[in-house]
Amino acid sequence: MPYLNITEVESGVTSLAAAFPATDLIELPEPTFEGRTCHALRIGTHRLEPKPAVVLIGGAHAREWGSCEILVNLAADLLHAHAGGTGLAYGGTSFTSAQVRAIMEKLDVVVFPLVNPDGRHYSQTVDPMWRRNRNPAQSGGNPAAVGVDLNRNYDHLFDYRTAFHPSAPVQVSDNPANPDQVYQGPEPFSEPEPRNVRWLLDHFVRTRWFVDVHSYTQKMLYVWGDDHNQSVDPAKNFRNPLFDGKRGLKDGLLYAEFIEKGDADDSAVLAERFCEALKGVRGKKYSPEPGFDLYPTCGTSDDYTYARHIVSGQEEEKILAFTVEWGMDFHPPWAEMEKIVLDVDAGLVQFCLTALA
Ligand SMILES: [Zn+2]
Repeated sequence: MPYLNITEVESGVTSLAAAFPATDLIELPEPTFEGRTCHALRIGTHRLEPKPAVVLIGGAHAREWGSCEILVNLAADLLHAHAGGTGLAYGGTSFTSAQVRAIMEKLDVVVFPLVNPDGRHYSQTVDPMWRRNRNPAQSGGNPAAVGVDLNRNYDHLFDYRTAFHPSAPVQVSDNPANPDQVYQGPEPFSEPEPRNVRWLLDHFVRTRWFVDVHSYTQKMLYVWGDDHNQSVDPAKNFRNPLFDGKRGLKDGLLYAEFIEKGDADDSAVLAERFCEALKGVRGKKYSPEPGFDLYPTCGTSDDYTYARHIVSGQEEEKILAFTVEWGMDFHPPWAEMEKIVLDVDAGLVQFCLTALA
């Protein structure tokens, strides 16, 4: 089986919703620029009971094809195993039927496998290296300037020229024709696709964990992405203008982003357990690390999602947020991608179990 096209990803979601009663099909409110409607799937029994939710999204970056397959397959695995009363086996990593049942009964698992259908369609039919959505509004008629990097469009340190040190190698641009395709868009949440993700987080008020599936580099990243983490000086935080112009230096001591020690520890444990279960499948080594260790970023889904409770002042709304960077290629040969699907799904099942513990 080759990679799924966008119709097949959609039908994967809708057919699971039709086949399994322990699901809800969720229509996202915002159509894409090309008029496509997106769907997510809520998985879990006891629909009416208040349960914590884990939100899993993928396919925001168009060329990172396998993310959609990873999430559709995860949903199918959980639903089939639960319905059949079986466990799950991924190579050398396996889970018992009781563990599957615990995930299905005690969590709402919300799977949104294709955030950016316009971009995926373009990547699979025209330009395999396409990363952005297909919104031409800021392009000025230049085909190379179409689209926004959806994982730079969230409302977090969006004004990077103010927030970061001029020498910080922050991976973002305010130029629509930026050749690295990291154009952030004209303003935070200018694009319907991140607004759909925000809507999911608003809709599932008990969301406590969030994972955005990307490729590549074989990492499981957690917050923060703008600078090193520290848990000693709360004044050094993304909202404090005293530290504008100081963020994002790799070896600088001017700044490091505050994260509560408990959150840093919990995030590290969740990322480590993910990597251990993944390694058990066939030995692939993924690194659990803060996002900043990859490169400094702003406007990303994970930092935005974790920062929501700080901005709102509502501690009970806290969401621990992560980014998977699977594999070592944007779209490896399908025979390898099939194995990566098993790797990452084993990690994500363990992630859910660790969250529950
Ligand atoms: Zn990506």
